[in-house]
Amino acid sequence: MINNTIFIVFDIDETLLHLLSENEMEQWSKMNTIDYNDGNKIILRPHIEKLFDFLKENENKIKPAIWTYGNEKYATSIAELLKKQFNLSNGFFLFTWGKENIIYHSTPKNMNYVYTKFKNCNKTNTFLVDNLYTNIAHTANKENSILIESFYPFKSFHENNTSPVIAAENDNCFLTLIDICKTLIDSNKNADNTTIPIFSKENIKKLDLLSYLNQIETKSLIPGESLTTTTELMYIGNTTNQKGGKQYRKPEKTHTKKNHTKKNHTTKNHIKKTHKSKRNITRRNIKKSLRRKNPTNKKSK
Ligand SMILES: [Mg+2]
Repeated sequence: MINNTIFIVFDIDETLLHLLSENEMEQWSKMNTIDYNDGNKIILRPHIEKLFDFLKENENKIKPAIWTYGNEKYATSIAELLKKQFNLSNGFFLFTWGKENIIYHSTPKNMNYVYTKFKNCNKTNTFLVDNLYTNIAHTANKENSILIESFYPFKSFHENNTSPVIAAENDNCFLTLIDICKTLIDSNKNADNTTIPIFSKENIKKLDLLSYLNQIETKSLIPGESLTTTTELMYIGNTTNQKGGKQYRKPEKTHTKKNHTKKNHTTKNHIKKTHKSKRNITRRNIKKSLRRKNPTNKKSK
């Protein structure tokens, strides 16, 4: 591995793939699903094959890793599945981490922790790709992350009764990500001894990536506080034109699971509960949807 490698850390769920619940499988039978374990199936985000082909072709220039809020066993099993699916080498991923490596729960997936574990990684060359605002917007990560629209097209089925298959097929986030990675690799050829974070505004301007810098608006997670904050973040999404980079987004209104997980970031117990089983996540969303229709239907564990 050469010194000026770029490191890209991928979240799993709703970033790389969507783990299907039993209820969702019939819909998704129209698309290619992959067997996971215990009869579970996953659907990979569109263009993921192109993404991994690109990463393979540039393996000395850009190195991927995986970091999930699920456990490390889940991270490893998904890495194995991806290796098999895309014919990746054994050492393809720099690391496959789970919640065991989330030390600072107030700043989830804190990239400073990556830098302490891997001496070649630092704020000038390493970034996280994650669908959760809460993993990205804190000070440790916001200049070293790309917020990616959640790959959760089943949401459209629950909310609008529109086809999740069509929503999934229209997803081109990974094509955009490849373009950004190409830009980073090209700029890295002539890398000077920079100390500025990879997605600091200064560097984003320098790399001509301003069209991906968006104002992300979100509400405070502190109970009783109605504060709304706006943070400038790198964002990749399908739903709106990002030219100009000044659109206001409200991810909390467009993503059911995100709301849920935000709440769960507030205590360790909740985090454990959320990630006890990845299978429960999609089931829980279905239960949430049912509860909305019938508020007296109490939440069951
Ligand atoms: Mg995720």
